[in-house]
Amino acid sequence: MGGMKTNVFLFAFLAAASAVAASAALPSGLEVDAGDRLVFPEPLRNFELRGEFLTDPDAEAAVGFHCPDEASGYEVLFRNGPVDGTRKSGSLSHVRNLYRSLAADGVWSGFSIDVRGKTVEVRIRDVPVVRYAEPADPWRSAAHRGQRFGRGGLTFAGVKGRVRFRNLVCTPLPDDARPAWPVRAPVDERTDRAIRLQQRDFPVIDWHVHLKGGLTRAEAFEKSQNYGINYGVAPNLGEGGVGEMFLTDAAARGYLAEARRWPFLCSAQGEGRRWAFQFAPSTFAAFDCLFTDSMTVVDGGRPLRIYRADEFKLNGRTEEEWMDFLVSQIENILAHEPVDIYANATFLPEPLQPRYEELWTAPRVKRVLDTLARYGIALEISARYKIPSLRIISAAKARGIKFTFGTNNEKSEFGRLEYALDAAEKCGLTKEDMWFPSLSVRAARKAVPWNTFGVPPAAGPQGTAAPSSQAEPPVPSR
Ligand SMILES: [Zn+2]
Repeated sequence: MGGMKTNVFLFAFLAAASAVAASAALPSGLEVDAGDRLVFPEPLRNFELRGEFLTDPDAEAAVGFHCPDEASGYEVLFRNGPVDGTRKSGSLSHVRNLYRSLAADGVWSGFSIDVRGKTVEVRIRDVPVVRYAEPADPWRSAAHRGQRFGRGGLTFAGVKGRVRFRNLVCTPLPDDARPAWPVRAPVDERTDRAIRLQQRDFPVIDWHVHLKGGLTRAEAFEKSQNYGINYGVAPNLGEGGVGEMFLTDAAARGYLAEARRWPFLCSAQGEGRRWAFQFAPSTFAAFDCLFTDSMTVVDGGRPLRIYRADEFKLNGRTEEEWMDFLVSQIENILAHEPVDIYANATFLPEPLQPRYEELWTAPRVKRVLDTLARYGIALEISARYKIPSLRIISAAKARGIKFTFGTNNEKSEFGRLEYALDAAEKCGLTKEDMWFPSLSVRAARKAVPWNTFGVPPAAGPQGTAAPSSQAEPPVPSR
């Protein structure tokens, strides 16, 4: 259906509202192309809209509700495809933007939009992906000041390409209908930073969330929606860490088969220093993102967990010598273990933390940033450890290095990316500075053993590679 037809349809309706009302009822099927805007003005307050949608590759459409006019109400987006920073199916546009779709291009998928009181639940393929409760005083930018629950019609707008809908059913609900899901007290948007970023489509994603400390998937979803922060939920691949951990391809793939249906990004963390050889490359490739940190180093052939006060030791070095040792470990880890993101970046053991600014000298920072730039690895801004410092983040931005936000929670209760969002603002990060899986180059790299601890078993994927501390891994093209 072209844009002209759309207008004719709308004008006909406006010209003879009562006569056309019956024929203007929502049809069960619709197609919308870029530029189309189909309006169904029967005013609704509480309702449930169900149906199926099918997107052409790269296509996008938006379904609006509570739209007495173009400037009012909310929109739900329909767009599938790779995790590339575009906003995906189910997004409550500019309020709860999502970055991974549970549906695929070219496949009919179910959806529902359920509005009750000042709440909305959006489901894709029967999975709740958005649950938003509007606070008493919602914060809206000037461009989106009409985004409030009210009463109004439905719109189907084509943004890009063609999106089809079928089996559409809209059921009005009584004015006193209330949501069946557990509504948390909304955050106070007057002071909240996430909503300000959501309003201007800056991606608000915590890529480093672990289901540990009793945090369940359901609770993570409620928290994510309450805060307006997308979560990348990460199991550990490898050994030696805490929380959900997998040691075999079968375990990791079994987890992922289920996790793909969850409303989260699928992160994974390489743990210990053997992880890169413990799984097939296809297992790593199946995750949206893969990160590791330098909190386990290899000293004298043994793993040393520097985040454990009872394990950390200088092993006869001065603090300056130990820093040089750490920097060479970071270089080796990032050069030889293919990841997308350097997590918990620049973390220092507790006894050294008071000297962080002094010990992270410009030459040491440069060595780490050189390595990130060379291998196309993003830098995590850690909300939990409040690292890297603003000085290091600014230096990384100047080098064109991309960023992610991460918490690395140890408990079920954790924050709202405060340090990361603060740092992003102070260092002037833009959407273009943020990393997305579409930028990933790790698939083009090979894990290379770089010390005796990391030597893979002979039958492993790198079984024929000779262990060498001098091994120079290939640099992928970006
Ligand atoms: Zn972690």
